[in-house]
Amino acid sequence: MDRKRMFIDGRFCDSESGETRATVNPATEEPIAEVPVATVGDARRAIEAARRAFDSGVWSGMSPADRAKALMRVFAALKEREPDLAELEARDGGSTIRKTSMMDIPVGIEHFRLLVELGEKVPAYEPLPWVDFPFVSWNFVNREPIGVCAGIIPWNFPFMMAVWKTAPALIMGNTLVLKPASDTPLTALALAECAAEADLPPGVFNVLTGSGSVVGTELATSPLVDKVALTGSTATGRHVMRLAADTVKKVTLELGGKSPTIVLEDADLDIAVDGALFGTFFHAGQVCESGTRCFVPASIYDEFMARLRERVGHIKLGDTLDFETTMGPVVSKAQLETVTGYIDVGKKEGARLFCGGCRPGHLAKGFFVEPTVFEGVSNDMRIAREEIFGPVLSVIRYEDVDSAIAMANDSVYGLGGAVFSRDVPGAIALAKRLRTGTVWINDYHLLNALAPFGGYKQSGVGRELGPHGLLEYTQVKHIHVDLTNDRKKKFWYDYIFNDE
Ligand code: NAP
Ligand code: MG
Repeated sequence: MDRKRMFIDGRFCDSESGETRATVNPATEEPIAEVPVATVGDARRAIEAARRAFDSGVWSGMSPADRAKALMRVFAALKEREPDLAELEARDGGSTIRKTSMMDIPVGIEHFRLLVELGEKVPAYEPLPWVDFPFVSWNFVNREPIGVCAGIIPWNFPFMMAVWKTAPALIMGNTLVLKPASDTPLTALALAECAAEADLPPGVFNVLTGSGSVVGTELATSPLVDKVALTGSTATGRHVMRLAADTVKKVTLELGGKSPTIVLEDADLDIAVDGALFGTFFHAGQVCESGTRCFVPASIYDEFMARLRERVGHIKLGDTLDFETTMGPVVSKAQLETVTGYIDVGKKEGARLFCGGCRPGHLAKGFFVEPTVFEGVSNDMRIAREEIFGPVLSVIRYEDVDSAIAMANDSVYGLGGAVFSRDVPGAIALAKRLRTGTVWINDYHLLNALAPFGGYKQSGVGRELGPHGLLEYTQVKHIHVDLTNDRKKKFWYDYIFNDE
């Protein structure tokens, strides 16, 4: 079996304990590679390397254009490996090769380039509005990197998430310690290989493979780390936020969701039915912004559901390395148990199983679950309130649009959502009433590297992507330059002097 090493201070290395863990292909249940299990000591070495690299100014002191040049060498190395990365991502995380070769890898690599190019243009100098006070000064803001950042990422889009943490942190002048999820470490390690080929200064970019409870805890608590950016579940987000509080680290959190898809009476049903299914069953539902609650008007309910049943039949489960397969397994045995547990909960709560609900009979191995649709769901059932993170759609019938909006907003989450309608201005007006970070109109899931992504409510703190996401990797310094140049005019000094 392939034995991988992690990347600390510009070198590939084993864990100091020598311990390794096998990463498994969820479609075959077979181990594919061994990776080091980092200890607290390893994590400290990586953090110290990132701290030294930051404090030396070797990276933060470089011009944005030079940083961009170095990062574009990483981009070129990624581009060269595109087909290998697509296969690696499919094998490690259980995505279909269809998805990783059409989406995760090419789009992830493009996002890397776009974020670097956008970050290069963020001006360090920001003028401030002129205020006519009785003193004369020049005031401006200098945008500066935050320092040492930690990126902790999940298993559902391992490469894309690695890119979203790495490109913004580095182009804005920070150094980074990246921790991939234990189930899917391989493409983050491939990114480290590309960084090594690109000759980034040692310590600027480090990848630690290890558990959240050990490595993640050290990253979130170390006084040498200035910011922690986590993508993961809301439970982990709460925990990391608490851990980060002791050292008052900056945090950005991209967390869970239970997003609504609202179909209006005038929707084009060819688009709406496929959109609702794409919104839920893309990557077997393991997408944080998945539209797992679908609100359908009573007036078109029967037609919508009949079409939905027909279209679900075109989702094909099977060998993830076969281009014909359109849906893979969930990531692990533990996740499979969570998903099948929720299907049982849905039945017990009185929702009707409309289709799916089982493990597919024709696949002997792998953590597969059929695309599952519940109808007769009410918004207070657990399957409508809790994130399942698997291929389970809850359909909720509604009578009037106001009640659909009220139910859509009745959630602790607020990450994504969609409105399907032929009346685009009307759909935009509804989108504005949804308390959620992204709303698609007549579409789902498309994320644009130039547009901010993140959550309202318990779906997160801060934004990733676009100018808003890049600014999360900077802090502002106000510089005040006195232009009075005359002690007599500086009457405010007299607040403390009595020269009478
Ligand atoms: P998770 O269990 O929260 O894990 C996410 C990451 O956090 C992993 O690297 C994990 O390490 C680490 N971690 C776990 N416990 C930790 C701790 N105590 N301290 C520090 N780090 C810790 O989430 P997941 O199950 O991998 O991913 C699924 C969740 O992520 C879903 O809820 C989904 O909605 C959310 N998600 C959100 C977005 C978004 O952009 N908003 C995107 C993707 C996924 P280990 O792997 O070693 O446990
Ligand atoms: Mg794996």
